[in-house]
Amino acid sequence: MRDTGSDFRAAHIDLAALGSNFGVIRDLVSPARVMGVVKADAYGHGVRVVAPALVEAGVDWLGVADLSEALELRTRGISTPVLAWLHGPTTDFVPGIDAGIDIGVSSRDQLERVAAAASGSGRAAAVQLKVDSGLSRNGISPAEREEIFERAASLQAAGSIRVRGIFSHLSNTSPSDDARQKSVFEQALAEALAAGLDPELRHLASTQAAIEKPDYRFDVVRIGIGLYGLPAADSMDAAALGLRPVMQLEAEVAAVRRVPAGTGVSYGYIHRTTRETTLALVPLGYADGVPRGASNRGEVSINGRRCPVVGRIAMDQFLVDVGEGEVAVGDRVVIWGDPADGVPSAEQWATAADTIGYEIVTRVGPRVPRVARS
Ligand SMILES: *Cc1c(COP(=O)(O)O)cnc(C)c1O
Repeated sequence: MRDTGSDFRAAHIDLAALGSNFGVIRDLVSPARVMGVVKADAYGHGVRVVAPALVEAGVDWLGVADLSEALELRTRGISTPVLAWLHGPTTDFVPGIDAGIDIGVSSRDQLERVAAAASGSGRAAAVQLKVDSGLSRNGISPAEREEIFERAASLQAAGSIRVRGIFSHLSNTSPSDDARQKSVFEQALAEALAAGLDPELRHLASTQAAIEKPDYRFDVVRIGIGLYGLPAADSMDAAALGLRPVMQLEAEVAAVRRVPAGTGVSYGYIHRTTRETTLALVPLGYADGVPRGASNRGEVSINGRRCPVVGRIAMDQFLVDVGEGEVAVGDRVVIWGDPADGVPSAEQWATAADTIGYEIVTRVGPRVPRVARS
């Protein structure tokens, strides 16, 4: 790695793995189409590199939470259909409508605001109605459905909106909880038809259900974590499906020191060496997404060897115990990547920090350059 001030750390983004993961999932869910979910800077992988690669691979839709994320895709020259589904109480929908973004609508208030914005914009807003089938987050509740569907049908007849889709999101709790949500969703679809709506896109499944449950795929599946090569649940064996982690987080060893037994290590001395050993300093910390909760628990790979994190992970750096192994300043450290390469996985870090792989990759900080590799 050449160092221009921060290149001694990098998140390598393997675009070949991303394209291959997309192909695996597309083939598995076909004929359902794939919406690639690129919210939160493509789960921390860098939307700048991920979105164009997914478009090139042939993704049918892109999905984001915020309208600002959707507009960023347009600014980057991406003309693929985009759905944005989470809005603030005063979000201005006009730029989204002007940019041809599909707007996920979860309430009567949002429906009215989108319709009003469309009349200002002079074009019909493409709307996808989000129903709450049992996750209890946003989405139209069962009690509001009839009224909102009828209002949507009349706004559609008046030309201010076009209801292109209807969707919901699962809790992935248990087969029976998911089945209950699916039947609520199907009931909502029937009510939408009865209200005179004929949405062309019905969607319910994200990675876990899309992979495990063929009858949950409907017209489109919304795939986030699977594209990035990580499992959506403990039950999912990503490698067995042919999915490969896309992100490899790396750094160069910033300092090496030989220390005697009994040496206190990092803040609070939660670790003291029990023998003479070699410590290597890794220039990444919790500001960069290395979870402090994995202090004394995570592992890295240096020169092909696993080395344990010792002591507290600090904001910018942490120490690993290299023992009697060879290590020099500048050696490459892999914090997480593809376990098939013999390096720790984001899942292992998630276990060490009592969280999920989603949070591990998504929290990689802005100081870490995302470097695409194909
Ligand atoms: C984040 C999100 C997804 C993607 O979920 P994965 O488990 O990463 O596939 C799909 N749909 C909605 C509504 C989401 O918020």
